[in-house]
Amino acid sequence: MSPKQEMTISSSHSSNGKSSAAGEPKLTDLFGANVFNDAVMRKRLPKSAYAALRKVIESGAELTLDVAHIVAEEMKTWAIEKGATHYTHWFQPLTAKTAEKHDSFLEPKPDGTAVAEFSGKQLIKGEPDASSFPSGGIRSTFEARGYTAWDTTSPAFLKEDAAGNVTLTIPTAFVSYTGEALDKKAPLLRSMEALSKQAIRVLRALGNKKSRRVAATVGPEQEYFLIDKAYFDQRTDLQLSGRTLFGAPSPKGQELEDQYFGAIADRISKFMRDLDVELWKMGIASKTKHNEVAPAQYEMAPIFSVSNIAADHNQLVMETMQKVALRNGLVCLLFEKPFAGINGSGKHNNWSMATDDGLNLLEPGQTPHDNEQFLVFLSATLTAVDRHADMLRAGAANPGNDMRLGANEAPPAIISVFMGDQLSVILENISKGKKTESKGQQFLTIGVDTLPKLPLDNTDRNRTSPFAFTGNKFEFRMVPSSASIAGANAILNTIVAESLDEIATRLEASQDIKKEVNALVKETWQKHGRVVFNGNNYSEDWVTEAARRGLPNIKSSIEAYAAMATAGAVKLFEKYKVLSGRELHSRYEIYLEQYAKHINIEARCAIAMVKNLYIPAVIAYTSELAETINKVKTAGASTKVQAVQLEAVTGLLESAAQKLEALEAATAKANGTAEMEKKAAAFHDSVFPAQADLRKDIDALEALLPRDLWPVPTYAEMLFNF
Ligand code: ADP
Ligand code: MG
Repeated sequence: MSPKQEMTISSSHSSNGKSSAAGEPKLTDLFGANVFNDAVMRKRLPKSAYAALRKVIESGAELTLDVAHIVAEEMKTWAIEKGATHYTHWFQPLTAKTAEKHDSFLEPKPDGTAVAEFSGKQLIKGEPDASSFPSGGIRSTFEARGYTAWDTTSPAFLKEDAAGNVTLTIPTAFVSYTGEALDKKAPLLRSMEALSKQAIRVLRALGNKKSRRVAATVGPEQEYFLIDKAYFDQRTDLQLSGRTLFGAPSPKGQELEDQYFGAIADRISKFMRDLDVELWKMGIASKTKHNEVAPAQYEMAPIFSVSNIAADHNQLVMETMQKVALRNGLVCLLFEKPFAGINGSGKHNNWSMATDDGLNLLEPGQTPHDNEQFLVFLSATLTAVDRHADMLRAGAANPGNDMRLGANEAPPAIISVFMGDQLSVILENISKGKKTESKGQQFLTIGVDTLPKLPLDNTDRNRTSPFAFTGNKFEFRMVPSSASIAGANAILNTIVAESLDEIATRLEASQDIKKEVNALVKETWQKHGRVVFNGNNYSEDWVTEAARRGLPNIKSSIEAYAAMATAGAVKLFEKYKVLSGRELHSRYEIYLEQYAKHINIEARCAIAMVKNLYIPAVIAYTSELAETINKVKTAGASTKVQAVQLEAVTGLLESAAQKLEALEAATAKANGTAEMEKKAAAFHDSVFPAQADLRKDIDALEALLPRDLWPVPTYAEMLFNF
């Protein structure tokens, strides 16, 4: 945007953006107003300290305490100028959420006064008690020490809340006393280093002498639902488990296909505007907003950034969505499948690799067949995805995604790559030693003279593919909407680092790079071409075809997690120093345990709702019906209809009572299983289906009972209230 066109923006909330003449902050001033970013550092830090810190950020030089102290002092002054009273080391334990403990800057003096203090040591290192975070056996409870360490590559920022608190927030990695990663950031950072190292080797071998680093870039599109808070407050299931455990289908769903990109309702638009303002202030480049496919479903996409910053930002996006929704009398649902029968939510993880001097390594250019750099990085990605499809699948597993993957809306559980016909033909030609003719830029003509001629893209879009090439990046579409993207990206970076490592070794030993690249592409196509599928991933035929090709079809998250427990996985992650065997295994344990705990919460919540809400409502209705029948009989009229209704309702009530008992028994049995793998399996194999079975009767009862007797809001009410 040119300075002349600067827009102003207001929010219902205080902001630290400078005000324009109209009294409202300019859009461009607002952006990053709460970030201690490079521009702020350059302006405020002494030259030498700034230079030293840049070195730390860019090349991992050691951060001295002297420099840290100067930075901390300036950070504190800046934060206090903007109203901060506290600072926090913000980290990402092995849950889906973030953690923070706030400390005030206050330091009392003997004379009863106080000063504001923030030392270099406080900036770089924190010591939260680690004993109450999941560690998967890495640490015993009595060994409580854990450390947080400043991630200098992700800028510190101010978090504001509705109560007016302003907190200096420092993104950190969280490790145990032994230096083992207890979080999602440390492995992601390590995977980025591994990827950069191997990618630079490949670039050097291809003759690139300029680029110094390669970063994985990520743009996560976030899907979510919004419902009225008044409804949410009456739904114990949404409150406790994140999804509706019961609910008869609404007479209208998403079949009219008029919600996607539909005009945004004012109330939602207000939420989106408030959200944008909050995100922009924190330097999150929220770019795109629109209605999604399901009723009450929406999406927000930021402009992509380097993967660890994208992961930090995505956590903030999810947290801010929930806060801003509440300020607007709404509740934001991030769970993967909050409502049965309509689309659920995911996160499209757009991923590529970029050099520090601005090259996108997955940019095909006009003549992809001649673009060795592109062909090599494409081959590396294809190889990685085919070889480690099971790991990628594990990176996209969580209990909520079990209700989506393969359920005819989201990508299937089978991992395949969409490349589009043009690129597939190029690789196939190379593998057969055939030449590909350059077509040059193609245009699309629409047949109306007044409409412009449109330049045609290399590939069409394929909305059904779990791993789709979309022009100059891949879109990994399986990531769960409520999960951190850090895990999926750490896996993606690591598996691609491995194939780049192999490619680099070959290229380094080769006398004829062009020939070697051709041989390499040929081999990739022959060995890993099976993972490419350009057709409809939702079709039954694909499931059969994928099985014929030997591609794994991993249906549930607990099966998916098993990929983390293999010797091959340990070898891979140890080789690239992303996770030690122990760190990897701890994650396996934690995710299995979290799965079991989640299904347990769902089951207990379902049991409570059936006992305390549904059965009492149905019983009340049956006695009302019985009384009516008696009265009508006394009046000498026919009670045929009432009797049929009573029969139907009591039949379902009896059935529900039996299924309730079965669910209680299955839950007790699963909880009594000691060994974690068996326990998670019991929750998956018997508790989950028992709960789904109980739901059938309750939903059938909902369809029979008068609305005013039904104790919770219906799907139609929750989804079509805007
Ligand atoms: P779609 O049409 O797939 O819904 P969106 O515009 O919603 O696309 O999202 C595309 C996302 O991809 C954005 O976050 C965008 O910044 C991101 N993106 C674009 N180029 C790259 C890249 N080179 N690396 C990573 N992400 C990218
Ligand atoms: Mg999108």
